[in-house]
Amino acid sequence: MSAGLGMQAYHNAAAPTSHSQHAILAAAAAAAAAAAHNQGLTQAASGFYPANSHHPQQQQPQQQSHHSNSNNGSNNQQPAQEAQPDRPIGYGAFGVVWSVTDPRDGKRVALKKMPNVFQSLVSSKRVFRELKMLCFFKHDNVLSALDILQPPHIDFFQEIYVITELMQSDLHKIIVSPQHLSTDHIKVFLYQILRGLKYLHSARILHRDIKPGNLLVNSNCLLKICDFGLARVEEADANKAMTQEVVTQYYRAPEILMGARHYSSAVDVWSIGCIFGELLGRRILFQAQTPIQQLELITDLLGTPNVEDMSSACEAARKHMIRRPAKPASLAALYTLSSQATHEAVHLLSQMLVFNPEKRINVIDALAHPYLDEGRLRFHSCMCRCCQTASQPGSVAVRRYASDLEPSAVQPFEDHWERELTSTHQVREKLHKFIMDQLMSSQVPLCINPASAAYKSFASSTVAHPSELPPSPHNWE
Ligand SMILES: [Zn+2]
Repeated sequence: MSAGLGMQAYHNAAAPTSHSQHAILAAAAAAAAAAAHNQGLTQAASGFYPANSHHPQQQQPQQQSHHSNSNNGSNNQQPAQEAQPDRPIGYGAFGVVWSVTDPRDGKRVALKKMPNVFQSLVSSKRVFRELKMLCFFKHDNVLSALDILQPPHIDFFQEIYVITELMQSDLHKIIVSPQHLSTDHIKVFLYQILRGLKYLHSARILHRDIKPGNLLVNSNCLLKICDFGLARVEEADANKAMTQEVVTQYYRAPEILMGARHYSSAVDVWSIGCIFGELLGRRILFQAQTPIQQLELITDLLGTPNVEDMSSACEAARKHMIRRPAKPASLAALYTLSSQATHEAVHLLSQMLVFNPEKRINVIDALAHPYLDEGRLRFHSCMCRCCQTASQPGSVAVRRYASDLEPSAVQPFEDHWERELTSTHQVREKLHKFIMDQLMSSQVPLCINPASAAYKSFASSTVAHPSELPPSPHNWE
């Protein structure tokens, strides 16, 4: 994708660099941390160890920051040559994300703050689950933890900071931008979404909040699924109720809208169908104000479902649907999304947008659809890390493709540990130990630098306000 995505535009929000700016991350030499710890914890009252005396800014050339052409697709592989300011790049229901510099190598990374972890047993278990998932993931199309900041002494342990790879943009920003999206772009994006989701589903993880804003994109079009705040392990027992407080409404599957007590990985495929339609039409496919209206828009396209197709719905929702005037399906409307909605595209899209989750295409079959052949070829020709180009002197370079182009997880993600957690106190201890175990690597651990200019604003940044969250599900009873 040599044309790139013109990502410079997304950096307009960056503040100019001040020469006196101190980076928010500091390397915490184990000795310094231990010393601070032994000083009666006076300095740890803020919840953080003091920064190491080897200040990261001293190791970097102090240059005037200019953001021109710094995003040609390869810059996040190289140490940053310019001192860039720490700044917020996003926030969601369960965390705040900042773009910061890793003092160990000067690379720009994303720092996610998970605040108020121990407010309740539910929230602390959710954070623990998300953190374990981030450490478990090993896949190019799924965001994973690069590092976790050294936590303070357990008595002061309130927040968790995770470092992930920094991606310049996300699919939401790209869709609403004036940036042209070619059919090649759409195919390579859709291929990577499905490739990442195949991995998650093979680990038995349901993401449950797939939306364009949770699909991070690099300037070279590499895509990674992120935000596992709502993700959980598939519930094998169909009699166990699952929460409906999931999935931003526009991407919410009809079975969840209709109050299904149990649902499957098919909810993620529905969300991808909505995103595929949005990529083609450059607007949200089903954009309603309420869950009931959302169902109306879906049935406008798919027609009134029959009783069998509503078998997972709750009784009240089924009655509501039967009372409504019957509507015919009008799937031909998908052709009017754009000139890019070819037969092949609509054929795949209409298999994702199936009302009945049992009849909806799964990720593996979707990946086998001919529409994705070109996306697969493009991804594995120049974007992936699984295939290699072998160049022998005097001969043409040969691309060696990996034997498995869409790998599954080596093992399922386990959640047995979760059931044994019965108090926030217990979660705090286990979580603290989990992080300390993760830090056993040879890398110099990192901590927050409270002396940094951006620290105050970072420390006080909170999660999304309730009014910014998706509407709650309709109460059918
Ligand atoms: Zn490959």
